[in-house]
Amino acid sequence: MDDPSLISALDALKRVDRYRTRRVLEGPQGPHVLVDGRRCIAFASNDYLGLANSAELSRVAALVIDSIGVGAGASHLLSGHHVLHQIAEHDLAKHVGMPDALLFSSGYMANIGVVTSLLARDDAIFADKLNHASLIDAALLSRAKHHRYRHGDLGHLEDLLRRSKARKKMVVTDAVFSMDGDIAPVPDLLRLAQRYDAWLYLDDAHGIGVLGHEGRGVLEHFGLLSQARNYPKLVYMATLGKAIGASGAFVAGSPELMAWLVNKARTYIYTTAMPPMLAAVVSASLNIVSRESWRRERLASHARRLRDACATIGLGLMASETAIQPLMLGSDSATMDASNKLMRRGVYVPAIRNPTVPLGTARLRISLSAGHEDQDIDELITALQDI
Ligand SMILES: *Cc1c(COP(=O)(O)O)cnc(C)c1O
Repeated sequence: MDDPSLISALDALKRVDRYRTRRVLEGPQGPHVLVDGRRCIAFASNDYLGLANSAELSRVAALVIDSIGVGAGASHLLSGHHVLHQIAEHDLAKHVGMPDALLFSSGYMANIGVVTSLLARDDAIFADKLNHASLIDAALLSRAKHHRYRHGDLGHLEDLLRRSKARKKMVVTDAVFSMDGDIAPVPDLLRLAQRYDAWLYLDDAHGIGVLGHEGRGVLEHFGLLSQARNYPKLVYMATLGKAIGASGAFVAGSPELMAWLVNKARTYIYTTAMPPMLAAVVSASLNIVSRESWRRERLASHARRLRDACATIGLGLMASETAIQPLMLGSDSATMDASNKLMRRGVYVPAIRNPTVPLGTARLRISLSAGHEDQDIDELITALQDI
C-alpha cells in the first residue's frame, strides 16, 4: 500500500514547484530530439561536441561488440580488466598530460572513491560552495572536516587553509561549474595548494573536450599541463559521458595514486568494470576530440551568437565562456513556467531548481553543442524573446 507520509511529502514538493519528473526521449541524443512524443530543438544535454550519436563511434562500438560481446562480466580486480581498458587509460593519461589514469564506471563513483580513499576523519576538505553533488557526498562520506568556501573566493579559501591544523588537506572544486558555466581559478588554486602542501582535486566534467585548443580540458586552457604533471598531489578527474560522448569517468595523476586507488577505492573495487566496448569508444573519441578543433570553434561561435543576441534584447545571461549558458530567473515557479512555455514552442531548455542550485537562484540551463546549427541558436533566441 502507498505510504501516506511519502504521498504528503511528494505533495509538498509539488506545491513549491520542486517536484521532478522525467521526459522520455525516443531516437538519438542530439540537437533535435523526439521527447515525450514531440520533436524539438534541445539545449538540454551535456553532449557538447555532438559525439553521443557519432557514426564513427557507433561503428567502433559495433565492431568491438561483434568480437567480444557486451559485458565486462566481472570487476577489474577479478577478471573484468580488459586490454581495451588498459589502452583507454593510457590514451586518457596522454590526452590530459598526466602520468597515469584509471577508469571508473561513472563520475559520481570516481569522486566518491577517490576522496574517501585519500581522506579520513582527522583530515580536512576545502570545497567551493557550488561544487557538484557528488563532491559534496564524497566529502561527507570521507568523514573529513568539510570546510566550504564562498564560490571562487580565494581569500576565504586561504583563510580556511591557514587556520586548519589538519594533517592532510585537500582543495576540491568543479573546474567548470555545472550549473553556472564559469571556470574555477585553477592557477591560483594550484598556487594555494602548493603553498599549504594540500592536495588539489579538479573535477573537469564540463571542461574535458571543450576547453583548450585540443580539448585537453582546464589544464590546457590555463597552460598548466606541465606544472600540474609535476605536482604529485594534483588529482585530475573528468567524466566520459559529456563532451566525450560515451559513459564513465577517469582519474589521472601519479602512478602511485592509481595503485592506491586500485587497492583502496571501494567504488572501483566493488563494482563491475565498464563494458570494454565503451573503453574502445573512449579511445576513438579522444582521437576525434583532439583532431577536430572545428567542434570547439563552432561551440564558441554559438556561445558568442547567443550572448550577443541576449545582450541586444536585454536578457542577462550569467557570465560564462563555456557551453553552459544559464539564464537566472530566481524563483522556482517562474523558471518552471518559462521552461514549459519554451517546450510548447518546441524548444527544450531544462529548469534547474533547488536543491541542485541554491534557493532563489533557479535558472534555465541552456547548453550548447557543436551539433547545433546557427539556425537552431536563432530559433532559441526568438523563443526566449517571445516568452
Ligand atoms: C556529471 C557530473 C558528475 C557525475 O558524472 P557521471 O559520470 O554522470 O556520474 C560529476 N561531477 C560533475 C561536475 C558533473 O557535472
